[in-house]
Amino acid sequence: MAVPLMQAVRVGRYVLKQHLSGRKRYPLVLMLEPLFRCNLACAGCGKIDYPAQILNQRMSLQDCLDADAECDAPVIAIAGGEPLLHKEMPEIVKGLVGRRKYVYLCTNGLLLEKKIDDYEPSPFFSFDVHLDGDKSMHDSSVCQDGVFDRAVAAIKLAKSRGFRVSINCTLFDGADPKRVAAFFDEVMAMGVDGIMTAPGYAYERAPDQEHFLNRQKTKQLFRDIFRLGKGKKWRFTQSPLFLNFLAGNETYHCTPWGKPLRTVFGWQRPCYLLGEGYAKTFKELMDDTAWEQYGTGAYEKCADCMVHSGYESTAVMDAVKRPWHIAKVALTGPETEKPMAPEIPLTNQRPAEYRYEKQVEEQMAVLSTRRPARGPRVRVHGNDTPARETFTDAAD
Ligand code: SF4
Repeated sequence: MAVPLMQAVRVGRYVLKQHLSGRKRYPLVLMLEPLFRCNLACAGCGKIDYPAQILNQRMSLQDCLDADAECDAPVIAIAGGEPLLHKEMPEIVKGLVGRRKYVYLCTNGLLLEKKIDDYEPSPFFSFDVHLDGDKSMHDSSVCQDGVFDRAVAAIKLAKSRGFRVSINCTLFDGADPKRVAAFFDEVMAMGVDGIMTAPGYAYERAPDQEHFLNRQKTKQLFRDIFRLGKGKKWRFTQSPLFLNFLAGNETYHCTPWGKPLRTVFGWQRPCYLLGEGYAKTFKELMDDTAWEQYGTGAYEKCADCMVHSGYESTAVMDAVKRPWHIAKVALTGPETEKPMAPEIPLTNQRPAEYRYEKQVEEQMAVLSTRRPARGPRVRVHGNDTPARETFTDAAD
């Protein structure tokens, strides 16, 4: 089991409590993006294409603790950008773990060797290292040679120091099921605690727009991978029903409020993947977002999405309603041979709206009213230098 028993019990108890209390919408995982700055510039990433003034913004330790207090989800995933670039990250992790939250720190691993002494192993804390496949798949995905080897060295180091470590594997069009299956064997042999996998979301700001999967291809790819995994002991950090959904066996609707995102801009509407606006408070996000306008079948930008941000919460809630169903799938693995579940029709979806430029304009206007930050200390990194822009740690 990739998720420790105590974590599964506590999260299950939380979900059951929400369900029994009749709460209509509740968070399962708080997604925190305390910075957008990264030391890589991956082709499929739509998170880092901002002006330097925005990339230099950070959520402070207090901002992160306040976000947790507002949201109060049992699990917290810290993403970015690259969280290890944030100077207060050890205190942020310590503060959240001290509140007995299950914290996953998502990292590309490049700075882990340098920073590992700042962190302590805990059953509440995991490093979640980005690895999009074997050496050539991953280095091509992150647009830099040598990153796979450094990430693997970081995984081995973290495991040797007693940390929990999972990997985060995003798959794109053209992925070869046999290579992915061999890669899952490889990471299991490294001793990782679990694999988190999903298809890439077609970010409108990602430089490579040609390699995102549509829903049909996603389902076939995951079926082919899971077929090769039958009888193997791959451990996933995700709900078996979410994996069953990826393999085309569930007609799930999106639950974007299950994994709310807090960034340097505020609470992002509606989800981790789509920035269609920002709320000042978590309550405002939950109460004032027109949730019915999002999800596959409702909005053009959601048409091909099968990402855990929206659909894993649906799977977890389904498990509460149909415990016998999750028990069966957990026992037998996702179905790979029977006809797929019906797809959601797209005929009534509303057209995409494009808001990026306006949002950047608004954020830049807000920043221009603030006191200028300390003068930047420019540090040009060897292998840590991103392709799109020279990285500085000006606002760390
Ligand atoms: S389907 Fe859900 S998770 Fe995916 S982009 Fe749309 S709102 Fe976000």
